[in-house]
Amino acid sequence: MSRVYNFSAGPSMLPEAVLRRAAAEMLDYEGSGQSVMEMSHRSKTYQSIIDGCSSLLREVMQIPDNYEILFLQGGASTQFAMVPLNLATKTGKADFVLTGQWAKKAYSEAKKLITAREVASSADKTFSYIPTLDPATFDPQADYFHICMNNTIYGTKFAQLPDTGDVPLVADVSSCILSEPLDVSRFGLLYAGAQKNMGPAGLTVVIIRKDLIGEPREGTPTMLTYKIHAENGSMYNTPPCYAIYICKLVLEWIKNEVGGLEKMQQLNQQKAALLYDYLDQSTLFHGTVEKGSRSLMNIPFVTGNEEMDAAFVKAATAAGFVNLKGHRTVGGMRASIYNAMPLEGVEKLVAFMKDFEAKNA
Ligand SMILES: *Cc1c(COP(=O)(O)O)cnc(C)c1O
Repeated sequence: MSRVYNFSAGPSMLPEAVLRRAAAEMLDYEGSGQSVMEMSHRSKTYQSIIDGCSSLLREVMQIPDNYEILFLQGGASTQFAMVPLNLATKTGKADFVLTGQWAKKAYSEAKKLITAREVASSADKTFSYIPTLDPATFDPQADYFHICMNNTIYGTKFAQLPDTGDVPLVADVSSCILSEPLDVSRFGLLYAGAQKNMGPAGLTVVIIRKDLIGEPREGTPTMLTYKIHAENGSMYNTPPCYAIYICKLVLEWIKNEVGGLEKMQQLNQQKAALLYDYLDQSTLFHGTVEKGSRSLMNIPFVTGNEEMDAAFVKAATAAGFVNLKGHRTVGGMRASIYNAMPLEGVEKLVAFMKDFEAKNA
């Protein structure tokens, strides 16, 4: 068996220890004689899995008691509609910062339903930076203020959170959740598709301040109502059972093997610094993002020559570094180095890039 170093933006690598544990438990989960995929979600055994996942997430992220954790489906993309349907219930207005494709999608989806307003954008420079925000331009009447905290495609991250006063801050944290400690109390709502840093695709996690769980806008379908999912312990219907189980294993890995989110952050900083430091002095490759806006998780880079980029991606793939091709809107390369990418993977990638540079510069 040989495993590649997978730099995919999502779905992405899972810790090997998690995959091994899942494999070992596949046919007979804890003496139940069945796989987690096969058991009733109403069984005691499954209840302890979903409860365990929820309490571990609360512990690892230090989520305060006045926040509810919801395990949903439909991906982060469904939250683009669910957030306005459930939160825009007073004035029907919300502010958006446009920092990339996902932020734009959240904005356009909200626009179909409510009065969504663009507060700032970095579209002028292909979303290569996080715009400076002036709270004086924020709408104090807005029902919420939306950001995409880490922009997966462009490789930018908010280094500071906007001060939105009493207006709840909502963040899409799909590609940075669990990568470092986060002060949950600064947010009204956080949401994430699981397939970057939490587990397999199919699970969407929502962390919502309890006072924001209320009656949704008129006509909101039952399945898109936070209140329904909160009242039913994320089991109004069948939850994504297996994905929640894997997420629990990932959280156990972060807690017990990594040692928590501070440790996770140190490791992620070390990995990102290796690649950024190399890019900053390379004569062949360079990063595409302004220094103050750099992501820890997604690192786009280019040579400036499309043929050279393609040659690099091809050579890297042959050497076992896969999914390095950049997003079609940026071109070049992108290395997504989520939690599960070992330090060794980044060390080896940088060594490979140095070698490629020596041969091609
Ligand atoms: C991947 C991603 C999405 C889309 O997630 P789905 O679960 O596929 O809907 C949205 N936002 C961000 C920041 C992402 O990285």
